Amino acid sequence: MIYNEEFETLPREVLEALQFKRLQQVLQRVYHTVGFYRRTFDAAGVRPDDIKTLADLSRLPFTSKQDLRENYPFGLFAVPMSSVVRLHASSGTTGRSTVVGYTKRDIDTWSELMARCFVAAGLTKNDIIHNAYGYGLFTGGLGAHYGAERLGASVIPMSGGNTKRQIMILQDFGPTAICCTPSYALNLAEQGRAMGVDMRSLRLRVGIFGAEPWSDQMRDQLEDQLAIQALNIYGLSEVMGPGVAMECSEGREGMHIFEDHFIVETIDPETGAILPPGEEGEIVFTTLSKEAFPLIRYRTRDVARLITAPCRCGRSHVRMGRIMGRSDDMLIIRGVNVFPSQIEAVLVGIEGLEPHYQLVVDREGTLDTLEVQVEVSERTFANADEVKVLQKMERRIVKDIKDYLGVSARVKLVEPKSLQRFEGKASRVTDRRKL
Ligand code: AMP
Ligand code: ZN
Repeated sequence: MIYNEEFETLPREVLEALQFKRLQQVLQRVYHTVGFYRRTFDAAGVRPDDIKTLADLSRLPFTSKQDLRENYPFGLFAVPMSSVVRLHASSGTTGRSTVVGYTKRDIDTWSELMARCFVAAGLTKNDIIHNAYGYGLFTGGLGAHYGAERLGASVIPMSGGNTKRQIMILQDFGPTAICCTPSYALNLAEQGRAMGVDMRSLRLRVGIFGAEPWSDQMRDQLEDQLAIQALNIYGLSEVMGPGVAMECSEGREGMHIFEDHFIVETIDPETGAILPPGEEGEIVFTTLSKEAFPLIRYRTRDVARLITAPCRCGRSHVRMGRIMGRSDDMLIIRGVNVFPSQIEAVLVGIEGLEPHYQLVVDREGTLDTLEVQVEVSERTFANADEVKVLQKMERRIVKDIKDYLGVSARVKLVEPKSLQRFEGKASRVTDRRKL
């Protein structure tokens, strides 16, 4: 089944003609309404009129997360605040998270794209959808919610947490589909079993999992433990939120990118050169229909490859494979985006520590864990025969990381000069999660 048969199956040439028409409109709009784009286009010596084909897009500069931060909070909005009906922000950053805005029509488009995702997963208005993505500033909860309502399905707005209650609702309300992060789904399965619930005999049929990287091995586990079909959904707040791309239940190999609303490119993260389809590279999006917060050539830092082969579901939109990694060092820990540099910023603000640290990310059972190992200074070390002093420091670091970044970490203070030193690029992260 296809939600928007007309737009999801457009023949390539018609789709590209539509993309080009929409691209011209959005370029004119951002050039005339957003100072940032006028400056960067001018600096590159390109005006919207110079873009005469889709391929000309490559003449325009990229937009980065840094650009978003520098224009925090609303500097890149292309409409007045009176037209903005919703704000969201991406997780895990300090004051300068990235803030995104939506007009009424943006919410409408987003809802449709999420509805397309649900239909791609085989759902109809007769389904009951248990939505355990977080509601709030994070785009996951409300994004999926509106899509489910658009489809006409019955949505249970669970949000995250309160796992025992979630398991009760899964048993009592009998939802046929669940949306959450794949790690939380495993967590639910595990806790359910611990409560003596036969998690395979629930009415759940489909899981729509995303917001963090996962693997085919994890898919097998989820499908086995919950007796469901587990499908991958992709999105990021900057570009819209969940629903930028979705795997179809027929193909199950790669997620269709809704190309009538986004242009996708893969680039070499070092040189910025465009790669031929099929090669692994950094994914770059240009939004074609967004009003409040259009983005031109936004570098996602997500690394994947595009799949151009036709899909048996009949959708003509290109697919992207699983996210293979990131071209920056962002970690996703229990759904929260964390940059090592943010942890560093917390550590250097605390007296008695050295700027030598190591982050160890692991997964215990189904939960991500973060351990921060940091050296204490010679002086602290010399004066710290009192264990209490060090314990107090550890507690302070744990609290600051929690307060500023929203993640719980374990902190281990180590002797001066005991951590590895680097000659080139420092590699401060050990990720032991087998995803
Ligand atoms: P946020 O803007 O907080 O929703 O975070 C978006 C980021 O989450 C993306 O840039 C990806 O790195 C990650 N992400 C979202 N969906 C997936 C997915 N299906 N697989 C892997 N990573 C994902
Ligand atoms: Zn398909």
